[in-house]
Amino acid sequence: MLGVMTAPSPRPEVAALPAYVPGARGADGPAPIKLSSNESPYGPLPSVAAALAAGGAEPNRYPDMAASALHAELASRAGVAPDAVVAGAGSVAVLAHILQAYTGTGDEVVFAWRSFEAYPILTAIAGATAVRVPLDASARHDLGAMLAAITDRTKVMLVCSPNNPTGPAVHADEFAAFMAQVPATVLVVLDEAYGEYSRDPLAVRGADVLGSYPNLLVLRTFSKAYGLAGLRVGYALGRAELLAPVRAVVTPFSVTEVAQSAAIASLEAVDELLERVEVTVHERARVLAAVRAAGWEAPDADGNFVWIPAGDQTADVVAALGALATPILVRPFAGEGVRITIGTSDDNDALIAALPSPR
Ligand SMILES: *Cc1c(COP(=O)(O)O)cnc(C)c1O
Repeated sequence: MLGVMTAPSPRPEVAALPAYVPGARGADGPAPIKLSSNESPYGPLPSVAAALAAGGAEPNRYPDMAASALHAELASRAGVAPDAVVAGAGSVAVLAHILQAYTGTGDEVVFAWRSFEAYPILTAIAGATAVRVPLDASARHDLGAMLAAITDRTKVMLVCSPNNPTGPAVHADEFAAFMAQVPATVLVVLDEAYGEYSRDPLAVRGADVLGSYPNLLVLRTFSKAYGLAGLRVGYALGRAELLAPVRAVVTPFSVTEVAQSAAIASLEAVDELLERVEVTVHERARVLAAVRAAGWEAPDADGNFVWIPAGDQTADVVAALGALATPILVRPFAGEGVRITIGTSDDNDALIAALPSPR
C-alpha cells in the first residue's frame, strides 16, 4: 500500500479555488433580458456572419496553429511586428498563459479589488499568491496603494481600465506616475477589455503607452465591443521578448479557424462595429443618469456597464429586476453591488422603468 489516499488528489491551490460565477442565463419562463455578462447585445454584421459560415466549413482540419493571418492583421493595425502580438482563446486564456509564464509558487500578483473575478482564480491556478489592493472611495484603482503593496516577491501587476465591475478608467497621468515607480523586473498587464467604450478624455490608452515601457503588456479582446464572446478570441500586445515565453505556453490550436476568420472580418468591419459601440456609449449615459436619479451613488461608467454600489441591498435589487414579467438578469456581487450591462435601447428602457431606489 502506498499510503492511505483512496483517490487522486488535485494540487492544494486547485482544491481551494473559488468558483468563477458566470452571469445568469435564465431558465424556464419568459425569455429574460440578459444584462449580466457584459456581452454586446448585437448579432454579427453580415460580413462577419459570412466569415463565420465560411470559416466553419472544414471542422475536420486543425486551424493554422500560428494564427498567422490574425497575428499579421492585429500587428499591422497596432503598428507593431507580428511577434509583438499573441492571440489566444479569449483574453482570459492569454492572461492565464502570461501568469503561467511569469509566476509560480511564492510569487505575488498584485491587482485592485474589486476587479475582474478571473484575476484571483488565474493567479491561484498559476500557483502564485494574489495581493488584492482595495479600490478608492470612488471605486477607482488606488495606484499609490498598489505601489505600496510591491514586495521583492511581486512578479506581475494587473491594471484593469476601465475597471470591471465598477466602471472608472485609470488616468494617463496616474498610470505614468505608477509606471515610473514600478521596478523594471515587475511585469505590468493593462487589461483593456472595455477600451473601445472608454470616453474619459483622461484615460490611459494602451496604444499610446506601450512603446514607453519595456515591462508592459496590453490585453485586448474580441468578446465585448466586437461581439464575439462566444468564439473566444483575445490577444496581448507587447515587446517580442516579453511575449515569447507567453507564446511558448499557449495551448496549441486554441484559436479555431472560424474564430480566426471572424476576428479578421471584424477588424475589416471595425468602423461599423465602432458605430455600435457609439450607440452603447450613448445608452450608457442614459442608464447611468437614471441610476443616479434613482438615488444610487454610482461611480463613473467607462465600459459597457454601470455599477450600483448597493451594499447590503444587492440581493433586493437583483430580486426586484428578476421578478418582472420579463425578468432582467444582472450580475450581483454579494454584499457589494450590482453590475448591469448596457443592452439595446429597448433593454435599457425596461431597466430604467424598473430600477428600484435605495431604502
Ligand atoms: C470580459 C473581460 C475580459 C475578456 O475575456 P475573454 O476571455 O476575452 O472573453 C477580459 N478582462 C476583463 C476585465 C473582462 O471583463
